[in-house]
Amino acid sequence: MLKKSFDECYCTSIHDIATLDDIADFVESHDGKLGNYEGTMFCPECRSAELSYVHKTSKKRAFLRRKSSSRHLPYCSYIHEYSSIQFSKEYYESLTDGQIQDKMASMMRLLLRDPLVNRVITTQATNNVEVDNPLLLKKEKNGQQIRRSLRRKKLSTWLGEEIAGELYLFYGEVKLKVQRIEKTNEAGESYFYCFLDIFCENKNREWKKKTQIYRGATEDSIDEKQIYHFVAVGKLDFSNGFPKLELSNKQSLLFKVVE
Ligand SMILES: [Zn+2]
Repeated sequence: MLKKSFDECYCTSIHDIATLDDIADFVESHDGKLGNYEGTMFCPECRSAELSYVHKTSKKRAFLRRKSSSRHLPYCSYIHEYSSIQFSKEYYESLTDGQIQDKMASMMRLLLRDPLVNRVITTQATNNVEVDNPLLLKKEKNGQQIRRSLRRKKLSTWLGEEIAGELYLFYGEVKLKVQRIEKTNEAGESYFYCFLDIFCENKNREWKKKTQIYRGATEDSIDEKQIYHFVAVGKLDFSNGFPKLELSNKQSLLFKVVE
């Protein structure tokens, strides 16, 4: 199985999630030393597997990986292989629109850190209850259940071409904007299509456009001043330079105003 890399970790010295970008910035400005991150970085999901920091090289960005001596808990989605584009497509086709939206809502609660959800899952896992981890995609095949996990990407972090074409769960706190394009066809009839633009706050507290989703005739109702919790499953396409997010399924997108 491909060794997984992590974009963030649960850091026991701050009792919170630390992103790879935060850690890399610290290391860069401290002579390559990890400081308080040393020995305190764990799997962001099960908080059991210990992670180590792999320094950047001229060819590769820094990343976090599991220490081979340590293990994920049984419910953790990181123990399963990553879902392919095809697997997720078939998985979503086996669900109703409502079921997909429920699933997106569970992913949002877990990743955008409703502490209660995380506590429920941890308690269930400790009591050996079969945990329904929203970050797993499951499918029956020849009487057997196949489970696949999703690579995940926080939208505020670096979106590079190295992840192009791979299936990801994109998430984060974003601002949104609808671009409505009006056109007239050859018969003189007017029509329109929409793009949903997605912005994240950078370190200088500026909201920068990170990606865009083609929405066809769906015109989302957006308040541009609000901050939204956002989750979407799909892949990035860099063929026109700027990354466009192509959804795995029309329903594999959910955003909600942060309250
Ligand atoms: Zn884990």
